[in-house]
Amino acid sequence: MVQRVGVIGGGQLAWMMAGAATKLGVELVVQTPATSDPAVAIAADTVLAPVADAAATAQLAAQTEVITFENEFVDLVALSALADRGVCFRPQLSVLQPLLDKYDQRSYLRNLGLPTPRFWALDLSGGGDGRDEDVSWSFPIVLKTRRHGYDGQGTFILRSEAEFQATLERLPNVPLLVEEFVPFERELAAIAARSVNGEIALYPIVETQQEQQVCRRVFAPAAVSPAVVMQIEAIVRTLLTSLDAVGIFGIELFLTPDDKVLVNEIAPRTHNSGHFTLDACDTSQFEQHLRAVCGLPLGDPVMRSPAAVMVNLLGYEQSQSDYLSKRQQLAALPGSQVHWYGKTESRPGRKLGHVTVLLPDTDRQLAEQMATTIESIWYMP
Ligand code: ADP
Repeated sequence: MVQRVGVIGGGQLAWMMAGAATKLGVELVVQTPATSDPAVAIAADTVLAPVADAAATAQLAAQTEVITFENEFVDLVALSALADRGVCFRPQLSVLQPLLDKYDQRSYLRNLGLPTPRFWALDLSGGGDGRDEDVSWSFPIVLKTRRHGYDGQGTFILRSEAEFQATLERLPNVPLLVEEFVPFERELAAIAARSVNGEIALYPIVETQQEQQVCRRVFAPAAVSPAVVMQIEAIVRTLLTSLDAVGIFGIELFLTPDDKVLVNEIAPRTHNSGHFTLDACDTSQFEQHLRAVCGLPLGDPVMRSPAAVMVNLLGYEQSQSDYLSKRQQLAALPGSQVHWYGKTESRPGRKLGHVTVLLPDTDRQLAEQMATTIESIWYMP
């Protein structure tokens, strides 16, 4: 039986593992750079160091039986020396290997025959704009940094050659990727776990809504046809089995107007689009992840309410307020649960918390109205 799990990263994703850790009787030891990081408050022990500091991960390994990730911006080469010495990472480093760089990730998906947007690497090392002679694209295009992108940082939707050139100038010496702009009908996400024994559990597919490339709202379950669900199930199964993955994965998808599913991005960890599972499912994504990581059987991913809506509480100003009165108003909404990450500082766009509301039925209008009510309370001055 695993008793202590090391977690690389101490943000809200690690903080939200606390309830599940208690339930499963495991302790979390967290590697994170600052004592003010959310998960320090719930950790049995902390290794204070940046997530990419592999020497610190060696200390983490000395205190734990298995190590997992809430943040994948790690130094894989340095960590592999630890794996060679027998440190157990779940998911395994070989699972992270093809996923950490967005170009590698797209190539991996293409090699598996899974549907993705068309994409090209940009090689700017020889001067020029890095386009191969045989590559021609039409605007709009999407330019992405190959590594360390999150919450839309590093994703640029560009409508003209002039915008493209201006953005390239702002990103000197950064490895980049270009993809076709997908005029999606909706964005969906699949949250799925795979156990040590190869068992796979998939939560109900959700619809996500982004603003300026940042997730604002999640609707569970997504109103999609059984044929779309089947496409997604097949993608998830192929992907997790081929990776031989252990743990939970967030898989972001585009749904095209003709009901085709394309994979946008795979996160090898718990994911914002799965936060609704904390309140709306018997087994949360955090418990599911810890179950997989600890070698336990997976829990049931079924929802216990007909529908739910999750709204992110994003910072909209520079402040040290704890927004208590707004949180109380949000908590007073029927069926609502407020999750406040306890960050000491608010900045525009920073994820400070989220609200999930359990809904009595799948009426989409009701869910939209609830999201609007939450946002009007939160973003009102
Ligand atoms: P991050 O890693 O920062 O989350 P993503 O690659 O997931 O970045 O992109 C963030 C958002 O940008 C997506 O949710 C989507 O709304 C938009 N986006 C990304 N790639 C494309 C694309 N190829 N076509 C259209 N929109 C895109």
